[in-house]
Amino acid sequence: ASLAAVDATVPGANRTQSRLTEVPAPPAAAFANTPDTDSSLPDNIRWAHQIAARIPTSELGLAGIAAAAVHTGDEVEALIAGARAAQPAWHGAGSAERARVLREVARNLSAHRGELIEVAAVETGKSLDQADPEVSEAIDFAVYYAERAEELDRIQGADFTPATLTVVAPPWNFPVAIPTGSVLAALAAGSAVILKPAPQARRCAAVIADLLWEAGVPREVLILADVAEGELGKQLISHPNVDRVILTGAFETAELFRSWRQDLPLLAETSGKNSIIVTPSADIDLAVADVVYSAFGHAGQKCSAASLVILVGEMGRSERFINQLKDATSSLRVDLPTNLAAQVGPIIEPAAGKLAWALNELAPGETWAVTPKKLDDEGQLYSPGVRLGVAEGSRFHTTEFFGPVLGVMTVPTLEDAIRVQNGTAYGLTAGLHSLDAAELKVWLDGVQAGNLYVNRGITGAIVRRQPFGGWKRSAIGAGAKAGGPNYLFGLGSFTPAAVSV
Ligand code: GLU
Repeated sequence: ASLAAVDATVPGANRTQSRLTEVPAPPAAAFANTPDTDSSLPDNIRWAHQIAARIPTSELGLAGIAAAAVHTGDEVEALIAGARAAQPAWHGAGSAERARVLREVARNLSAHRGELIEVAAVETGKSLDQADPEVSEAIDFAVYYAERAEELDRIQGADFTPATLTVVAPPWNFPVAIPTGSVLAALAAGSAVILKPAPQARRCAAVIADLLWEAGVPREVLILADVAEGELGKQLISHPNVDRVILTGAFETAELFRSWRQDLPLLAETSGKNSIIVTPSADIDLAVADVVYSAFGHAGQKCSAASLVILVGEMGRSERFINQLKDATSSLRVDLPTNLAAQVGPIIEPAAGKLAWALNELAPGETWAVTPKKLDDEGQLYSPGVRLGVAEGSRFHTTEFFGPVLGVMTVPTLEDAIRVQNGTAYGLTAGLHSLDAAELKVWLDGVQAGNLYVNRGITGAIVRRQPFGGWKRSAIGAGAKAGGPNYLFGLGSFTPAAVSV
């Protein structure tokens, strides 16, 4: 198994999201137009109230994304040529200078935490408890890749040549952290970047680009290009003068990109079908809390989300785990981000296709422990569901659904559980809840996934500590993990240093 990201912390440790950097107080000026509620409330609560008050009227990112619209093939050509022409100066400035700019970016993202949370909530429905740590992750990427840029200078005996031009195609589900991290990695390496936003998260991309430019990233080195899907998108992604494409999205999207250009130099983090094994030795309270958060945080719309829990032996036979899981799931508050207490927000689009099936139908032998309920007319707000009796090899076992549904499987032994956990085409995250060291060893030797978590939830990888990336259909291309020591190396190439004679 890949041990690169094992997090075998003691139970209860490391329960929060990324916090490499201090969370600053919100800037007072950012909320000058909103009434200060109750000054006796803690800062973060008052701040959240202020954000929520602004949500329905927010115009963040609108102007920026309108300005970034790309309409013709000639424009695509011009943007590519322009970015390539600007890259030598950015690379030539040196990695210490690039690191300095990235640290400015970190400061600017911190200073604008409120706006970043707000635009993620407005545009993608992300609840505040998810959007806030996401901003921390973006800041962490800036600090971390600044350090990695400096390291490039210290590597002995080899010259690193960055990609001249990197295209970044981020997803909508982490509309702040992933575009920011991908863009900053390429910039840190010395590449110019064209950022092509996800259609559902275009305003987020515009706000991020603004904050990066303001911090000193040259506008001609980072280009925001709102290129429509279809022919123009294909022209950009498959262009021979694009040296790298960083994609985070569905496996099928990576395949589509590859069908456009066979030799596409792709760094892709793709789909997952992830599970948590719970053995009889586990701490049930901890396991239930971690399963519920991993399954239903952001309504299950994470590549890393837990879609299955696999109960081993007695843990599956006794009613205790299932009863606690039912209670915990049913107690979650499902609402729009304007409700500050929301723990499960809307899904990005009305449920259709395989997700509609997962929310509404059962396979033979399956039953609902908690039945999902449609809470709005549009079909975007669903209360989370738990289905029992998922069979090995069944549709629910092997399909990624990307929504608030969890399946429960029961197996006799840990070896069976590992086979079931590995029994999908993907290998992104995997979890084990066990307090038995021998079980941990068996699991580590057998599990096939990029990010392994022990007695912890399986979402929310922390930059530097848990570099993020997968196996099998969860990764395509160079395979280096985001937020890890080798990521920048995938954004360029090493050549032996010239030997002077
Ligand atoms: N890095 C995120 C996490 O650890 C998941 C990213 C994704 O969904 O693509 O939860």
